[in-house]
Amino acid sequence: MPRDLLNTESTSSQLQNTAADTSTDRLLQNNKQYAQSRQHLPPSQVIEPSMQTAILTCMDCRIPIEDALGLKPGQAYIIRNAGNVVTDDVLRSLILAVEGKEVREILVIGHTDCALAKFDSNAFTNSLKNKYQCAPCVPTQFHAFPNIRKNIRTQVAKLKAHPYLAEATSIRGFIFDVNTGKINELVP
Ligand SMILES: [Zn+2]
Repeated sequence: MPRDLLNTESTSSQLQNTAADTSTDRLLQNNKQYAQSRQHLPPSQVIEPSMQTAILTCMDCRIPIEDALGLKPGQAYIIRNAGNVVTDDVLRSLILAVEGKEVREILVIGHTDCALAKFDSNAFTNSLKNKYQCAPCVPTQFHAFPNIRKNIRTQVAKLKAHPYLAEATSIRGFIFDVNTGKINELVP
């Protein structure tokens, strides 16, 4: 049997005491400090976001969305994907949020300099097909767009047109400036 399997416990404790090797290790170290310093709230039966709000934004790591909006844990749902695109899965989460969790306001927040606006979905799909030598598989498209502002308007329109989101009283579109951190409204 390999030695590392025989010494699982000691290896595990050594890992805890050595410098983190990967980003995941560093994040888990950060979490230990977070969990130690976190103020434990009393258990609550209420899991609805207190601001009755859901936010769809891009996964771009230059958007610290909680900080940018002054959000605290428990206040809003945050859904992120590449290009803040209203995919089937985003609709799944939003419909659950609106129907089951009392969400009434939805914000779509795109951003300046979005990578999806400099991207050719078809070329990328073909390059994957060639690289991995297999037919296109899920996802079959990557939802690139040539115009950032138009994309935000398109995504808001998709939400407003969805019959299951009628309980959402407000669906608005915004753009986050990655240089200034300012959020401006595009679709009231
Ligand atoms: Zn983006």
